[in-house]
This record gives sequence, C-alpha cells and structure tokens, in this order.
Amino acid sequence: MSDIRSSRQSPRALKARFAYMFEGANLGLAFYRGWMPIVVWACEEIDALLGDDKRNFHWTQIKEKFGGARLYYAIDSASAVAAEVGTGKRPMTVVVDRGPVDPVIRTGADIVRKATSTTLTACIVCGAAAEPRSYGGYVVTVCDGHRTKGTNDDSWLADVRDACLEDDDA
Ligand SMILES: [Zn+2]
Repeated sequence: MSDIRSSRQSPRALKARFAYMFEGANLGLAFYRGWMPIVVWACEEIDALLGDDKRNFHWTQIKEKFGGARLYYAIDSASAVAAEVGTGKRPMTVVVDRGPVDPVIRTGADIVRKATSTTLTACIVCGAAAEPRSYGGYVVTVCDGHRTKGTNDDSWLADVRDACLEDDDA
C-alpha cells in the first residue's frame, strides 16, 4: 500500500493507467493539484481491491464541495452506489447495497471515505497541511501560505481556480 500523499500524476496519465475508471457516464471529473496524490492513491487502492474483475467500477463525479473532495462512483451497475449524506468537516459515504453484504464494496467505500477525509487536511492548491476555513461564504481547504496570500484580496480564489488541472497538467 502506497502512502496516500506520495504519488503525483497528470490527470491524463491517471486516466490512461486506469482507463476503465474514467469510462462511462459521469457528471464531471475535476482534479485539483493539491489533492491529485490522494485521488491517485484512491485509484491505486481500488484497482488492487478489484483485482481481475473490475465490476464496471467507474467514477461518476469528482468535485470540490465544502472544502473537501467528493468522489462518487458506481460499481456493478445499479447494485451499489455511494451517496453523500454528510457536509462540512464530516462528509460520509454511505453505500446503498441492495445485494448481500459484499466485502469488496464495503472496502471500496472505506477507501473513498479515507481519501475524502484526507482532502480536508490537504491544501487544494499545493497539498500542504491545511484545514477547511470559511472565507466570505466559501469553505476552502488551503494551507497557511495560500491563506495568508489572500487576506488582503481575493488572489487565493485565483489560486484555487488555477489548481483545477487540465489533462496535461502535472
Ligand atoms: Zn498551499
């Protein structure tokens, strides 16, 4: 198991590596520079968990919300979906599983839950230690360096926008 913050990859490289996770319908997949290692970790862990049978796993939405990443996915078509029920500092992933208890689905939910909670401790811009803070109606997770930069103006907002990666960005 690799460290959750250790792997950095461009979105394009990640999509090439785990193509099946990025095929199929989705509501948008947003990648942020500071959180990219965490998303890479989640993909690696889930791929290892699934083994040879990928079970139609794919991400259905990846986005920022209330300062943390939200990672939604589907596995085995309609048999299980992850749904967000928490907000703010305590996001929760609940697995709606209509079948018998499935350890792969349970463990997959644990991986996504750990990734989500870790984004609440990592600057969305650079990945340094951070915590969610409220700025004039926005809740963002940025480190002291990026926060300080924004005390007199809204430049931190531009930093957050710039941290949203295009496919080729490293
Ligand atoms: Zn930062």
